[in-house]
Amino acid sequence: MVDSELDLVFNLQCLQKRSARKRFRRSILDEWPECGYCGRHNPSTLDHVIPRACGGKTNKHNLIGACADCNLLKSDTDWFTWYRSQEFWTSEREDKILSWINQPEFEPPSPVFVNWMEPGALLLPSAA
Ligand SMILES: [Zn+2]
Repeated sequence: MVDSELDLVFNLQCLQKRSARKRFRRSILDEWPECGYCGRHNPSTLDHVIPRACGGKTNKHNLIGACADCNLLKSDTDWFTWYRSQEFWTSEREDKILSWINQPEFEPPSPVFVNWMEPGALLLPSAA
């Protein structure tokens, strides 16, 4: 039920944000059907390759699909150093990450996604 025109506008904006978040997430996970680091299937989180604590942006080409284990283990460390010290490191996946994060970014980061990507909101399926 909608009580007023303002409520309707508010509801529409919420739906658009939710749908925009889903599209944003999908556009990344389509490119990352496996964890970008260890290669396990069905990554359940998006990871900031360059951590936000180190100035990494919440935009498409700083985010990759990652399993929860890798996301937690990597945390705010430098991804390149961390990844090279992992037993599951491969040059193929490292190259894929490098070419992904070096793609030009056309869209400015949206504040809509910043809140959504706060720690604790990283387990995406239940947050949808
Ligand atoms: Zn992983």
